[in-house]
Amino acid sequence: MSNYRAQLERAEQSDKVVPYLLLCRGPMPEPCSVHGKNENLVLPVSHPYWRSTDMRLAPDCKCHVRGVTKREFEELKANGTLSADSPPILNEQGLPTGHKEKLYVPIKTSVSE
Ligand SMILES: [Zn+2]
Repeated sequence: MSNYRAQLERAEQSDKVVPYLLLCRGPMPEPCSVHGKNENLVLPVSHPYWRSTDMRLAPDCKCHVRGVTKREFEELKANGTLSADSPPILNEQGLPTGHKEKLYVPIKTSVSE
């Protein structure tokens, strides 16, 4: 069983406490070919989408999911989530500092085909 499937099983067992999952791109410069349309998607742990697709099978996929509590879901709906495309913060010499600007984008709450 993949790490992802194992994570899903664990998530199902604790979905009273952490009822949602958020799909994140991970450290890739472009949206992945499998999940790109559904970046920043938040759905209940039990939603069939999570079982319809595996993470990290395609070569360009470094996506992952993380658990979201009911309270965080409300915050995400109100404020959005940190964008994977947040621009890097440069130092005075114009070199990356390893930090990124905090650019927020709206979450999605329904699956795009
Ligand atoms: Zn992906």
